[in-house]
Amino acid sequence: MQTVNVPPFPLSGGCQCGRIRYRLKAMPVVFYLCHCTHCQKQSSSAYGESIRVRAADIEIEGQPKGFHVQAESGAQKVCEFCPDCGTRLFHGRRPEAETFNIKGGTLDDAAWLRPAGHIWTRSRQAFVTIGADELSFDKGPATYQPLIERWRQMTGQT
Ligand SMILES: [Zn+2]
Ligand SMILES: [Zn+2]
Repeated sequence: MQTVNVPPFPLSGGCQCGRIRYRLKAMPVVFYLCHCTHCQKQSSSAYGESIRVRAADIEIEGQPKGFHVQAESGAQKVCEFCPDCGTRLFHGRRPEAETFNIKGGTLDDAAWLRPAGHIWTRSRQAFVTIGADELSFDKGPATYQPLIERWRQMTGQT
């Protein structure tokens, strides 16, 4: 198991052009990678990076634009991006949601991130290798609890 050296809070981040900025004031709930085909599309890359945060722990400056998609799991989710530069920023942010996901690459310093695990690995790109000791789910996990618990161990919260 890898350990994560989390930098001191708050952490800052934003879109590529700087119109949307955010500050994360406390430890994320979990960080994982999603290899579903939707995340390959939304990231224009091999996988999506999801940092789940508590809504109360984040301050956002600027107004992202949102639209709804149907996830591979069948669930509807709102996806938000910068209206100027198109950078994908947040998934699942709704007024009633206690948590939502930040896209990991939007952190100003993302070098410290180590994923708690991988989901939807059945559609992962062949060149992406997953370590034998890394949590891995063929599809979406029935519950995120194993990933959350691994993240807590990796970040020294237990
Ligand atoms: Zn932007
Ligand atoms: Zn995905």
